[in-house]
Amino acid sequence: MSERDLLMIPGPVNFDPGVLRALSAPTAGHTAPEFVERFGQALEWMKQVFIAPSGMPFVIAGSGTLAMDMAVCNLVEPGDRALALSTGYFSDRMTAILERYGAEVTTLCAAPGDTVPVEQVQTTLERVRPKLFAMTQVDTSTGVAVDVRALTKLARDAAPDALVVVDGVCSVAGMELQQDAWGVDIALTASQKAMGVPPGLALLVASPRALETFKARKKPVANYYGDWTNWLPIMEAYLARKGMYFATPPVNMVYALHESLRQILAEGLEARIARHKKLSDAFKVGVRQIGLAQVPVRAEIAAPTMSAIYFPDGIDSKLIGKIRQRNVVVAGGIHPLIRDKYFRVGHMGVVSPGDISATLAAIEGALLASGYRFDAGAGVAAAETML
Ligand SMILES: *Cc1c(COP(=O)(O)O)cnc(C)c1O
Repeated sequence: MSERDLLMIPGPVNFDPGVLRALSAPTAGHTAPEFVERFGQALEWMKQVFIAPSGMPFVIAGSGTLAMDMAVCNLVEPGDRALALSTGYFSDRMTAILERYGAEVTTLCAAPGDTVPVEQVQTTLERVRPKLFAMTQVDTSTGVAVDVRALTKLARDAAPDALVVVDGVCSVAGMELQQDAWGVDIALTASQKAMGVPPGLALLVASPRALETFKARKKPVANYYGDWTNWLPIMEAYLARKGMYFATPPVNMVYALHESLRQILAEGLEARIARHKKLSDAFKVGVRQIGLAQVPVRAEIAAPTMSAIYFPDGIDSKLIGKIRQRNVVVAGGIHPLIRDKYFRVGHMGVVSPGDISATLAAIEGALLASGYRFDAGAGVAAAETML
């Protein structure tokens, strides 16, 4: 990776230089006043970004998978029923985690590129009456987004006791999510995607209802590091601007998170979400103009944070290397049913109009070099009219 490459994968993404500089600040002790203040501020800003004024934020060293693990290990007890909506690889990981902690899981699987029909979700919620209902706002393996607001409302009506858990790793801070207003019990993400911080943090916000469920557990949490019994007093202490130790917090990662949250709120959530939508729309129009099909089967369910694009006939994954030679890094497929047939482009965080044009130009150049025939320049031109 040269310093001049564009990292256009669905996480990690390109990061703001100010966020990177925060990583190299002198490391304070984890109870030093300046760290306590920044950690406390970052936790408050987390609630603002998740739009969860009543929520309890957790910032823990780890990745998005740890955030998923923490959601499940703290809420599920062996034998609890869970319903998981699967729109791809990462949703399936949630099913695996639920099973690991002893849940009886019902999984509703969508075809690659599609969502599960709403009526099927409703009848299954009514039949299963799950304690936990999990969905992935954007499944990064397909680029499919689900309607979290509508599905949460559906759950409230069809199975009022179900705790709604949203994997927002590829969406939070790049797509609308109103945790409190929509009634989402757990929303979680990782640092390295639309949150704009290098990999290394698991980020999660829990509703009062989720914390009550946790506090009413009969059995201890089967995961020592992820147990909220250990972490809740720590997060409460830093929110109250007191230092406290359970396991050493990643001091410099918290500095970087603090700086990125500051930037996110300075841009404004609405403006940021609109920027992601606009850049995504322009990119997708460009891709269509070149003649490439996308994995999401309908435009309304295509994510604004990334794109999943089928290779055209006669072209295979060698295209990714040719795009790479043009200083743009894109990712291969990971959905097991279509793995070798498509590639993925992330457009989140500090992504700009110039990045969108440059990425389309690199894709066009790589396609030309691969012998694919199309109206060269048309993709970039179509996108430019929208940027
Ligand atoms: C990236 C991703 C994950 C996994 O996050 P890691 O940080 O790689 O552990 C989970 N869910 C979704 C939707 C993701 O995009």
